[in-house]
Amino acid sequence: MTRVVIVGGGPAGSVAALVLAGRGIAVTVVESRAAPERKVGECVPPSVTPLLRHLGCEDLMERTGHLRSLGNRFVWGSSRPGDRPFLTGAQGDGWHVDRAVLEADLAARAQAAGATWESGRRIVRCERAGDRWRVTCRDSRVLDADIVADATGRTAFVARRLGATRVRYDRLVGACAFLYSATPDTDTYTLVEAVPEGWWYSAVLADGLLAVAFMTDGDLLDRRAWRSLLERTDATWARVRHHSYTVTGAVRVAPADTSRLDTIAGEGWLALGDAAAAYDPLSSYGVGSAMGSGFYGGNAIADLLAGRPEAREAYLTIMQNAYCAFLDQQLDHYARERRWPHAVFWARRRP
Ligand SMILES: Cc1cc2nc3c(=O)[nH]c(=O)nc-3n(C[C@H](O)[C@H](O)[C@H](O)COP(=O)(O)OP(=O)(O)OC[C@H]3O[C@@H](n4cnc5c(N)ncnc54)[C@H](O)[C@@H]3O)c2cc1C
Repeated sequence: MTRVVIVGGGPAGSVAALVLAGRGIAVTVVESRAAPERKVGECVPPSVTPLLRHLGCEDLMERTGHLRSLGNRFVWGSSRPGDRPFLTGAQGDGWHVDRAVLEADLAARAQAAGATWESGRRIVRCERAGDRWRVTCRDSRVLDADIVADATGRTAFVARRLGATRVRYDRLVGACAFLYSATPDTDTYTLVEAVPEGWWYSAVLADGLLAVAFMTDGDLLDRRAWRSLLERTDATWARVRHHSYTVTGAVRVAPADTSRLDTIAGEGWLALGDAAAAYDPLSSYGVGSAMGSGFYGGNAIADLLAGRPEAREAYLTIMQNAYCAFLDQQLDHYARERRWPHAVFWARRRP
């Protein structure tokens, strides 16, 4: 009998499942996608390595599909690019990952540890039945559990149905595309370039595609202007033009706001990863922090089931401290760009 249902099989849900299964707890992950797909959010900094090592998953990054990244290059605060190589840190290189490969691998590790995985099932209802949960999928499958974990990403599908609301700090969105070139760039630095309307990032992937995203506020975005804005950038356009990159597929817009739930955990449930707290991609913090939250959240659930209620408070404190530290860093980073004090995007981010 399943004791824990995790809704969502992204980095947060899969790491929580791996932890719970490793602690001998019957856990089922319900994921709406039939198979992992390529998601945006490819740049994973070296800070994720210690957790992967601790989980016995460090080898996953050596798999085909991921590319070692040597650092970040910022055109930020000045038109002169500044390099921040990972070389200077103690944790080795970062990665430009294929999210579909990474998520399939993490799911496989969780299943190998004993977790049950139900793909292609969307949860549509979650209600209390005595002191247990009754979780209903769109195809009418019903699961019972002692604890439900919401790992549904920014939508926080379960937590919002249980009464939690999302607190948003900004309206950031990413307009993202994959670009193809017959002679792709070999520079593995992630390029981040500030412009009056927001900022761009671009990252070469292992298959040679270039992931390019324009980050701005949702109300300031004109999708049709994506290409003309790209051409007005300096370093990003030079990279695209030099390698004759062309856009493959559509430019997709995804919410990328810094936001959190007002309530991250309640009686018999807790939220993990982006569902609990989501970060501006400027930090490349999302995947690592989702995995970290899956790790701490998974252990908290195991402890709660073992009759240790203090685990909930400990989890909340860890999440809250991480979020506060991030908000300070974010403020500091945006404050370093002072070239366009009257541009709406930057005026909104002034301390
Ligand atoms: C434009 C953009 C750029 C980004 N760039 C980076 C980056 O460079 N580096 C980085 O680290 N992070 C980046 N991120 C953030 C990163 O993608 C997220 O932080 C990360 O995916 C969060 O993982 P998660 O497991 O919490 O949620 P998700 O990855 O969103 O996974 C949630 C899962 O829940 C499933 N689900 C949702 N609802 C249901 C339901 N009702 N029933 C069943 N399943 C459901 C979904 O199918 C999904 O697979 C970026 C994000 C954006 C928007």
